[in-house]
Amino acid sequence: MTIRFVVVGGGPAGVQAASTAARLGAQVTLVERDVVGGAANLWDCVPSKAMIATGSLVALAKRANVRGLEPLSPEVDLGLLGARVRQIEHKLASSMTEQLLSQGVEILRGSGRLVGPHHVEVSTEDGELRSLDAEAVLIATGSYPRVPAWAPVDGRRVLTTRQAYPPPEIPKHLIVVGSGVTGVEFVHMFRSLGSKVTLLVSRQQVLPQKDPEVAAALETDFLESGVILCKGARAVSVEHAGPDNVVVRCEDGRVVEGSHMLLAVGSVPASGALGLENAGVTVNEAGHIPVNQHCQSNVPHIYAAGDVSGRLPLASVGAIQGRKVAEHVMGLHSREHRHLDYDKAASAIFTEPEIADVGLAEAEAFALGRKIRVTKVPLATNARALIDGDARGFVKIVSDPATGIVLGGSVVGDRAAELVSVIALAVTANLRVLDLAESLFVHPALSEALAEAAE
Ligand SMILES: Cc1cc2nc3c(=O)[nH]c(=O)nc-3n(C[C@H](O)[C@H](O)[C@H](O)COP(=O)(O)OP(=O)(O)OC[C@H]3O[C@@H](n4cnc5c(N)ncnc54)[C@H](O)[C@@H]3O)c2cc1C
Repeated sequence: MTIRFVVVGGGPAGVQAASTAARLGAQVTLVERDVVGGAANLWDCVPSKAMIATGSLVALAKRANVRGLEPLSPEVDLGLLGARVRQIEHKLASSMTEQLLSQGVEILRGSGRLVGPHHVEVSTEDGELRSLDAEAVLIATGSYPRVPAWAPVDGRRVLTTRQAYPPPEIPKHLIVVGSGVTGVEFVHMFRSLGSKVTLLVSRQQVLPQKDPEVAAALETDFLESGVILCKGARAVSVEHAGPDNVVVRCEDGRVVEGSHMLLAVGSVPASGALGLENAGVTVNEAGHIPVNQHCQSNVPHIYAAGDVSGRLPLASVGAIQGRKVAEHVMGLHSREHRHLDYDKAASAIFTEPEIADVGLAEAEAFALGRKIRVTKVPLATNARALIDGDARGFVKIVSDPATGIVLGGSVVGDRAAELVSVIALAVTANLRVLDLAESLFVHPALSEALAEAAE
């Protein structure tokens, strides 16, 4: 019997689930009300990294002397930049759509909601109602930016991340509220595009969840590039001050005036208006759909994956959850398989220097009282880093002193997001430091620092 599988939400989790299930023989309908690829392509990962790529090129041009050229001062063309961002989104959305269609996935444009445990109702973009029966349903509706009650977002001066790709003008002085991953990426993006930037950090360290040494490297770079860091500053209000300015007040009385304010204070799961109650699906206080290791909700044939599941809010994690869901729906997990280990997910922060880590962090190991071996190599002596004129940062590897097994690591520096993949593979495959140290890497390459750190 062919399994009918309905996926609501076409972000990384939904697309991957639909594609894998179709490949495995399911009859799949993917319901998406916006674009295939989801918020990841339209609002989050892709446009932010495209803008950062432009910002990083501007920054590199300004220090072109490191590669023997006269320093340049390129002008940012916001029209061109906006068109480029949209073109990338469009290319990705159409290639995903083509692939899904070629696999036999039905793509329904519209909003889906559960009207019963095995029924999804879709109000299509043509204004029709379509009813779908399903043996299994995946909710992969993602999340949207959190807007605190004190912040009247107007899309002009007070912005969420979704209004910044790119804004109509480069902000003269941008105040970024929130110093987590998204906040620091937007600081880097707008600083390199030419804005003066003030970052309000509610605690005493940017990236409060990260290794302090890694956070310190970023803070140093921010300060050197002229970013104003206000630590212990919790924003509580924002007001317009004339047509061109905003004033942000902090809990401790500090006041910061700028031309724009950008909120980067987390996200809210998109679990409302999905009719979850009609199918008996439980939602927790934060609005996430709690799931087990197979991404099943409390109703076993209704799954949740991606941001709405409340696990690691990363596109990469959502995609692999989607794949696991499809395999489970198709009965593959009755055989031995590897459960998703969220502690082994690599993640990156696309600042300058780039920051990436995976697995056990040094600070976390100390907090747990766990014995570890930490080896660290600065990029300052790496030939490729010197050739490229950017020798900032380091590679750090955390391993088990008894077995030599790689437990985690961090990379701060140029192309950290690529380099960390080698450590991620080592962590997932239980490789030992010796395996890395004896790998014959390319010379001259940044990856040589990985082998060196593993010695
Ligand atoms: C600024 C920013 C930058 C980020 N950068 C990165 C990064 O570099 N790397 C990374 O791994 N992660 C990044 N993330 C996180 C990443 O974007 C999310 O984890 C990821 O998008 C979650 O994927 P998802 O599949 O849950 O759904 P989403 O990508 O959120 O997509 C959900 C889809 O569901 C659709 N939908 C919602 N409700 C319905 C409904 N009722 N009916 C039909 N369709 C519906 C929406 O239209 C949307 O298309 C970033 C996040 C932000 C905010």
